[in-house]
Formats: sequence, C-alpha cells, structure tokens
Amino acid sequence: MSRLILVILGKQGAGKGTQGRRLAATYAVPHVSTGDILRAAVKAATPVGREVAAVLEAGELVSDDLVNRLVEERFEEPDAAGGALLDGYPRTLAQAEALEAILGPSGVTLCVNLEVPVELVSERLSARRVCVDCGAIYRDVDPEARSGICSVCGGRVVQRADDRPEAIRQRLEVYERDTAPLLDFYRDRGLLVNVDGAREADEVTATIRGAIDERIAR
Ligand code: AMP
Repeated sequence: MSRLILVILGKQGAGKGTQGRRLAATYAVPHVSTGDILRAAVKAATPVGREVAAVLEAGELVSDDLVNRLVEERFEEPDAAGGALLDGYPRTLAQAEALEAILGPSGVTLCVNLEVPVELVSERLSARRVCVDCGAIYRDVDPEARSGICSVCGGRVVQRADDRPEAIRQRLEVYERDTAPLLDFYRDRGLLVNVDGAREADEVTATIRGAIDERIAR
C-alpha cells in the first residue's frame, strides 16, 4: 500500500484532535499536529518556541515557511514512512500547495472536513482542558480536569491560553479567512469528504473510518 496521508480539517473545536488521535492509532500512522509541535517548542523554550510564543497566544497563524519546514522534517522521521494523520496542517492555501510539493500531486489520500456549527465549537473550546505533557483532551466536567491530573500520563491538565473567549473569536476569524478556502482546494481534487462532527465522538469516528476504508479499497 502507498503512504496513507490523511488531512483533517475543521474549525477549532470541531474534534480534529480527538478524532485525529483515534484515527492515527487505528491506521498505525503518527498523529502530526502542528499545534502540538509548536506548543512543545514553546514549552521547551527552543529558538522556534521563543519566536512563535506570542503568535500562538494571540491566536494568529505562524508563518507558512516555518510550519512547512517543521512538517517536512516530521515526514523524514522513521515513524512517518507509512504515512501520517495531519491535524491543523495545512491551514492556508500556501501550505496546501507546499504539502503537494513535498508529497507529489497524489500524496494526500483523503481530506476529512469535520462540520460543526460555530455555537457548538465555541462551547466546546471554552470547556476544553488539555494535558500539557501528552496533549490528551478533556472537558471541564471530566475528573481529570477537576483534579488537574492526566489519566494517560500523569501530566498537568490545564486550559489552553488560546481557549479563552477573546482568542477563540480571533482563531475562528482566522479559520474563515485563511483555512476555509482549503475546502475548495481539496474538493476540486476529489479528495474532500464532509462529515457531521456535531454527533457523539464514536459515531463521528465510525463515519470517518468508513470513508477512509472505502478510499483505501479503491
Ligand atoms: P491548534 O492546536 O491546531 O489549534 O494550533 C494552535 C496554534 O498553533 C494556532 O492558533 C496557530 O497559532 C499555530 N498553528 C498550528 N498549526 C498551524 C499552521 N498549520 N499554520 C500556522 N499556524 C499554526
């Protein structure tokens, strides 16, 4: 089988992280989240991390050149030999074009667009809590959020700085402006599948798996 490259698109809070982690495990490919890579760089105060910290906090996008380079490097790691699940990348047309240049025109296997109304994503983002160490995602009512301790790795569970109301508004605007045009980009290439992401997570996973399995079987 050729490399399995899955792109997961959708507004912030649409469920890309949750679904991405599950699908990556199911299809035995790494879950490549540019947001996680950038947050790890900020936490470790690397040169990249110091460069992007303020941009992340404000809910703006970091430069295309920088994320393209990070993704290209990530593809060179051995665990990505069989493919990858891309979460949060590409996020602009320039990034989608760069990805095509990195992988070749038939590089992306499928692009899944998680459709969720804006009211629901705002609600989900305000309630979201994450583990600073492994990135596991919780809701404010979950025991891990209440205790502040991740049940996966024992790390600290917190609210992301960019999940506060002002940054949420900013990020949703950035999505509409910069990322929504990617839907046409992948639709034009016959690679887009729209999935109703407002349902229970397990139902959403089952629908996406059906679409991926159908594509792989072709
Ligand atoms: P996420 O976890 O995907 O919501 O990403 C968190 C933040 O990281 C975003 O608000 C951006 O500041 C930055 N970021 C993540 N992925 C990208 C990307 N592909 N291009 C530009 N900035 C990104």
